[in-house]
Amino acid sequence: MKNSPNIKDLYERALQYIPGGINSPARAFRPVKEKPIFVEKGSGAYIFDKEGKKYIDHCLSFGAIILGHSHSRVSSAIKEAIDKGTNFGLSTEKEVILSEIICKAIPSIEKIRLVNSGTEAVMSAIRLSRGWTKRKRIIKFEGGYHGCVDSLLVSCGSSLTTLGVPTSSGIPEEFFQTTIVLPYNNIPSFKAIIEKYHPEIAAVIVEPIAGNMGVIPANLEFLRVLREETEKYKILLIFDEIITGFRLCFGGFQNIIGIKPDITLLGKIIGGGLPIGAYGGKKEIMDCLAPDGDVFSAGTFSGNPIVASCGISVLNILKEENPYNLLEKKTKYLLEGLSGCVKVNQVGSMFTIFFTDSPVFDYKSAKTSDCERFANFFKGLLNKGIYFPPSQFEACFISTCHTDKDIEKTKKAINFSFANLNYNIVK
Ligand code: PLP
Repeated sequence: MKNSPNIKDLYERALQYIPGGINSPARAFRPVKEKPIFVEKGSGAYIFDKEGKKYIDHCLSFGAIILGHSHSRVSSAIKEAIDKGTNFGLSTEKEVILSEIICKAIPSIEKIRLVNSGTEAVMSAIRLSRGWTKRKRIIKFEGGYHGCVDSLLVSCGSSLTTLGVPTSSGIPEEFFQTTIVLPYNNIPSFKAIIEKYHPEIAAVIVEPIAGNMGVIPANLEFLRVLREETEKYKILLIFDEIITGFRLCFGGFQNIIGIKPDITLLGKIIGGGLPIGAYGGKKEIMDCLAPDGDVFSAGTFSGNPIVASCGISVLNILKEENPYNLLEKKTKYLLEGLSGCVKVNQVGSMFTIFFTDSPVFDYKSAKTSDCERFANFFKGLLNKGIYFPPSQFEACFISTCHTDKDIEKTKKAINFSFANLNYNIVK
């Protein structure tokens, strides 16, 4: 590339001006002991780095991209919106249209607020839960990641797991005292705690399919018990569907399992690759927000028309094409035959290959994975032009742009990388 700095120089400059050289730690590639990639552009299933190397992308902006990069219809919608101005701090039709599409697709969401990131959605939903219930405590589950919200930055998954940072400094202890952390998929421990503390608990927040300790689906019975017990004690049940929203069907994972939470968190896909978050639920709860209610929530860029236009375009295409069965079929084919020394968890187009030989159903079992082996596997794939998320404890994805040929290429690279690790993957 003419006059283009090479990645090594760019990284040096990044280190000089940006802490750790990156704007979000997962991008630092520390868990896999590599240097970060600097992307020049993305097209369909591929990303191209600053030196022109092409990768098949299975990270897909940590799940935000489902139609592939720079989809022509989505790009046109963004361009059309930009030509009308970037942000007004006033209402536009686009945010109304996006909200309506989401409310119609996810019946538990009667009203919704659009914000700028998943983190902001979580933070706002927690405040709303406390405002509604007049209680303080929140229950979360080990390995669940709900953005970098102070009181929830405890026992998180994601890259924090391999960074070895159990929490973050800079957060007063008092914040954690309102957070109860319980093992995922464990009904007895949940029941015991709820029995004892229910008058103090405002909300239970859960990823119905965990995506930040690797992909781990919640047992249906576990989710049913969460719903029953929270209903019984007037505690709000919050489903964090920031990854699963519009990833597995046209709606949330809740549409598939038929469990309605009180509040749903969305992000990623509903913004089509532009920054977004959203929280929505029952009318009477959502109406507690200012200006109708006394729970404050605000943002200069909330409901931004360019982001909303992008989200509308992605959701319209998903509705028209209904690609979910095909995505699942392709993902199944990709992972077919992998077992033995690895455990594969897959739901629809989300999956994780765990480097462990025992089943992975919670944070502790996920942590039995051999991260050193994962790092070597990751490097093997990278050399073959395949980009997986740079941590054992992340979800991998497939987009509608991944062709059979791309899948075949990834499959071959996986097998090659396993062979290089001397790993027996077939039982
Ligand atoms: N919740 C879940 C389940 C997530 O996976 C993430 C991000 O990966 C978040 C919340 C935070 O979203 P954001 O990164 O947009 O702040």
